[in-house]
Amino acid sequence: MSEKKLKFNSKTIHGGQEPDAAYGAVMPPIYQTSTYAQSTPGGHKGFEYSRSANPTRTALEKSLASIENGHYGLAFASGLAAIDAIIKLLNPGDEVLSTNDLYGGSYRLFKQIFEKYGIKFQFVGMQNAADMEPYINENTKLIWVETPTNPMMNLIDIKAVAQLAKRHKLLLAVDNTFATPYLQLPLDLGADIVMHSATKYLGGHSDVVVGALVVKDKELADKLYFIQNASGAVCGPMDSFLTLRGIKTLHVRMQRHCENGKAIATYLAKHPKIEKVFWPGFEDHPNHEVAKSQMKDFGGMISFIPKGSSYEDAIKIVEKLQIFTLAESLGGVESLAGHPASMTHASIPKETREKGGVVDALIRLSVGIEDVADLISDLEQAIG
Ligand SMILES: *Cc1c(COP(=O)(O)O)cnc(C)c1O
Repeated sequence: MSEKKLKFNSKTIHGGQEPDAAYGAVMPPIYQTSTYAQSTPGGHKGFEYSRSANPTRTALEKSLASIENGHYGLAFASGLAAIDAIIKLLNPGDEVLSTNDLYGGSYRLFKQIFEKYGIKFQFVGMQNAADMEPYINENTKLIWVETPTNPMMNLIDIKAVAQLAKRHKLLLAVDNTFATPYLQLPLDLGADIVMHSATKYLGGHSDVVVGALVVKDKELADKLYFIQNASGAVCGPMDSFLTLRGIKTLHVRMQRHCENGKAIATYLAKHPKIEKVFWPGFEDHPNHEVAKSQMKDFGGMISFIPKGSSYEDAIKIVEKLQIFTLAESLGGVESLAGHPASMTHASIPKETREKGGVVDALIRLSVGIEDVADLISDLEQAIG
């Protein structure tokens, strides 16, 4: 059956996948090999050396391209390695317009690695695409969007930013880690590159660190492939296999993440000891309309501030949680809680961090797919 006709919930399982040519294995085997026999120099079956290509990684890359409605997928050793490859498309003197509310590791990579090489980053609010216009000049080459943002759950209107990018002939890259293609398809909305930390929802089981890029354009794909192969931060065969296995249940997991997320966001919003809850599904969320227009549902990521709003109030709660594990990362089947100011966002200076709303009392939840009643009881005993 033609791949194009498949619906999303079938693409996660079948997209880009064929039974293995050698023995018909239904799951792509883990080709744990660095090199491939040649019959004569250059006489090979499409694989020469596993940095350049490996059949298990190729299977993952095809699956990624399929679920994101792209044509080309690239799998990296981590999400940051995937971002690193995008920025390497640029030259000294080029400028990037980035959202000001972004993953701490992306901020660190931009500021502490790439600025040294003469690439300039401007961090701006992107809630209103028109506000971005004054920051664009002849050196601007790339717009970096993350939506929903981490950890404030702000939404950026991808279509509006894509129109701006087109008008100024800029590349638009979207970090789709939080939403996943189950909820949102940036390429369909006009983005040029979709990026993932597949470590999170795509892998879904907190057992790999993997990154991904998906594009439609052949020329752009070739440039990124050149960088991937030349720089070498590729995804290994075992991790490719595990990520593929994770993707096969993405739609089922996401459905439950969204249901549990809604129940917990609603519970927290009504709680007398909670000051504020950030979740795009609320009708009074400032970007609710954008969420409704570009996302299928609202996801399982929630941030909140307990009453009292002190560092200690937040720490007390995250330490008391028992089913929610206090840990970095997100998007796995198990529920996690995090304290952005001291964990994921500690590398962002306090002043910059707080300007974006990441105050000391903020707690972030990655709601898993456990029984939601157990999750709510756990929050109840921790909030007290
Ligand atoms: C985790 C994460 C990254 C970085 O990915 P790694 O796989 O940890 O390198 C980038 N963006 C977002 C939104 C993330 O959550």
